[in-house]
Amino acid sequence: MLASRLLFPAAFSLFLVPTLSAEKPFDFASTPGKLPKQVLPEEYAIRIVPNVEKRTFTGSETVKLNVREPVKQLVLNVIEMKITKAAVNGKALPASAIKVDPKQETLTLSLQSELPAGPHTLELEFSGKINQQGQGLYYAPYQEQGTGAKKVMLGTQFEATDARRMFPCWDEPAFRSRFQLTAVMPENFTAVSNMPVEKETKVAGGKEFRFGVTPPMPSYLNVLCAGEIEGIFAKVKGVDHGVFATKGKAEMGRYALESSQQILDYMNDYFGQPYPLPKLDHIAVPGGFGGAMENWGGITYFESRLLFDPEKSSAETKQGIYEVIAHETAHMWFGDLVTMAWWDNLWLNEGFASWMGTKTTAKFNPDWEVWLSKNTPRDPTRRHGIGKEGAMEGDARSTTHPIQQPVANEAEASGAFDDITYRKGLAFITMLESFLGEEVFREGIRKYMAKHKLSNTTTADLWNSLSEASGQPVGEIAAAWTEQPGFPIVKVTRDPQGKITLTQERFTVHFDNAPPLEWKIPLTYKVPGTPATASLLMTSKSMELPNSSGDRAVKLNVEGAGNYRVQYDDVSWKLLLAELPNLSSPDRVNLLSDAWALVQANRAPLSLYLGLVERLPGKSELAEREQIMHVFDFINRLLAGQPERDQFQKYARSILRPSFDEVGWEPKSGETVKIGMLRASLIKALGILDDKEIVAGCRERFQKYVTDPKSLPPDLRPPVLAVVGRYADEPTWKKLHELGLKTTSIEEKQNYYDALAGAIDPKLIAQTLEISLGDELPTSRAVYLVAKVGRFSERPDLMWNFAKTNMKKLLGKTDALAANNYAPSLFTFFSEASRIAELERYAKSDLPATSAKDVAKAIDEVGFRAELKPKLTAQIGTWFSATKEP
Ligand SMILES: [Zn+2]
Repeated sequence: MLASRLLFPAAFSLFLVPTLSAEKPFDFASTPGKLPKQVLPEEYAIRIVPNVEKRTFTGSETVKLNVREPVKQLVLNVIEMKITKAAVNGKALPASAIKVDPKQETLTLSLQSELPAGPHTLELEFSGKINQQGQGLYYAPYQEQGTGAKKVMLGTQFEATDARRMFPCWDEPAFRSRFQLTAVMPENFTAVSNMPVEKETKVAGGKEFRFGVTPPMPSYLNVLCAGEIEGIFAKVKGVDHGVFATKGKAEMGRYALESSQQILDYMNDYFGQPYPLPKLDHIAVPGGFGGAMENWGGITYFESRLLFDPEKSSAETKQGIYEVIAHETAHMWFGDLVTMAWWDNLWLNEGFASWMGTKTTAKFNPDWEVWLSKNTPRDPTRRHGIGKEGAMEGDARSTTHPIQQPVANEAEASGAFDDITYRKGLAFITMLESFLGEEVFREGIRKYMAKHKLSNTTTADLWNSLSEASGQPVGEIAAAWTEQPGFPIVKVTRDPQGKITLTQERFTVHFDNAPPLEWKIPLTYKVPGTPATASLLMTSKSMELPNSSGDRAVKLNVEGAGNYRVQYDDVSWKLLLAELPNLSSPDRVNLLSDAWALVQANRAPLSLYLGLVERLPGKSELAEREQIMHVFDFINRLLAGQPERDQFQKYARSILRPSFDEVGWEPKSGETVKIGMLRASLIKALGILDDKEIVAGCRERFQKYVTDPKSLPPDLRPPVLAVVGRYADEPTWKKLHELGLKTTSIEEKQNYYDALAGAIDPKLIAQTLEISLGDELPTSRAVYLVAKVGRFSERPDLMWNFAKTNMKKLLGKTDALAANNYAPSLFTFFSEASRIAELERYAKSDLPATSAKDVAKAIDEVGFRAELKPKLTAQIGTWFSATKEP
């Protein structure tokens, strides 16, 4: 799954450092979970009849059971559903034998006599509701392309634990079953599921779609989408690829359809197991959720993550589409063909899909520099910036957790979809692949797929296959990275003879007295200007760097592929600075990231970072500039309301403006995609830093755009609108709003509403916040509008007052993943220590206990900023007076 959190790091849990104990390979009987394991569902036949107007549905199902030991009751999952009939082997149970426990989310059927081992049949009839938020079966209202008519599409979102909202089921990932779904829909609807439609029949009140039977899979991978939708198709090597969208938009799926074929072809080869289903559909849903979900054979996407309009979409949207399709398609193997046994191993699904998605995107689109963009800090306003840096920032705090964490209940399963799972998982796999070698790693993955297909696994199963292929003790190397929180910093010191000693310790930020930990670190290093990269496994606290040659610079963590920080002593740092022109851009980005992290960790003054920035040899390397813009944006927001801010903005402009002057306003023919992206980022960054010429240039272009939309290239629309929105007056705000209301393109809509969210005039801030309560935006986007105001308007106080008053309504629009972290995350925009007590009070009186980890995380974030603010302010003063008056 790709979650829809755009604005804040997700949940992090607090817990004690575990002792490293080897995990066991998959074994069904000892897999965690709530449901008894004596009864296995083998095949479901499910029939769903929605009432679209009333937002309800009725359903029935027949489940073939394999009872392994005699039982006196059947226990399965269900929530917010009425069970109207239950029968076992054709014999109806009395109503008193049917018990739903809403807290446990279970259905218990008490049997009159013991059910002997062997095959049996369970029949159920039930009814439930169609939800507003993306949980279970949901509805997504939208305006039809071309006509603007108000329509509704139905979709499902079941991961992690919401299949039980549409049909009663054994809703834990280790219970694999075959599913055969039938759905009755209004006559003008088309329906899509995991398997092709086998039979379409006219019935009273509409059409009945009967889909084929799936291979054995977990319940959370089922899908049902229906509405006035249409598709485009291509059959390649026996697989029907399809892209579905609401009427009038299917052609915008052309790019996705082409990408799908390329990606599936590559992965068929990589995994060594052909994609096992007859079709692969990508379905654009205009609301309900904001991400994408790897339902086997029927992947769902929030519309703007899948559809590409060459007239209106930016290059960044295109890149985002490719990456998300590659991520979800990787899940067709990693997640669907082989599934993690329990949610404590979610990282196996997500870390791997993130890695494989990036690898595939990089292979076919080398000019996008996707690996490098993963190593720049995450800018939440940019879709592709799902960087390792974001995970490392969270992983350095007291509120982090190991990649592998115990998951006790449904809320914790949802909480597992966080930065650590996705991004640290991705970073660790990247490091491991570079250590084992690309070929050997792939061989291990092929062995793993062949051995475990159509079954479940734990991390130990993956390590076993990789060890077998490589002859390396992979489990031993991996243990500290997956079972411990945090990561190391490697300190480089030279003695007067030039002998280099490396020492490792835990790297932390705003976390005093952290328990000390050690890692087996797969290190890489090189001497700048020479081609050879050396590697070694650091297995102790301290070691001497072999073959280090006295007065030459040494760069550790080559191209930033490793998940650790490096701190050089003065001599080594000076040698490196002199070699900057001989380093690759990925190496320079790595130095920038580490230098900024050292500042955050109080290990170095801001001058270390700014000194490096000023010595960079070029001005238009996209990833380097993005790293700098990220840091400047952070400092600029932190200084809001402080007297030093003007001076800082002036300085930041003096660094970034020459880069903009190099690329200019107008795209030049033949320029690379990167330059286009750099231009867009610089316009936005300089606009926010109050560069008057840039602001005036944006306003002028906006005026022209209003009368002639073609005058503004798609890549420039988001930054120009953002800058115009920030400094908007009432008529400009109204114009942006009017444009947002009118467009039927979700991507355009997003650009307009993002612009509204950035307005800094308090009166306009209030107007924007009101929009989140209405129905002009899809629910998932409406709730995040509030967070965007908190971040971009620089008035988190106004945002929070509004959110507090309207929290019930806002929570009614969030999905399962956001239920616990929505309210606490709104607090992370504050940087005053006084807000901590306020959040604690609010959590106590208004938030459920399941929010505790997210509350702790928000408190840590506010505390970190509150401490950093005066330190940075003082250091900025020192830097300016020591160097020059900018
Ligand atoms: Zn995923």
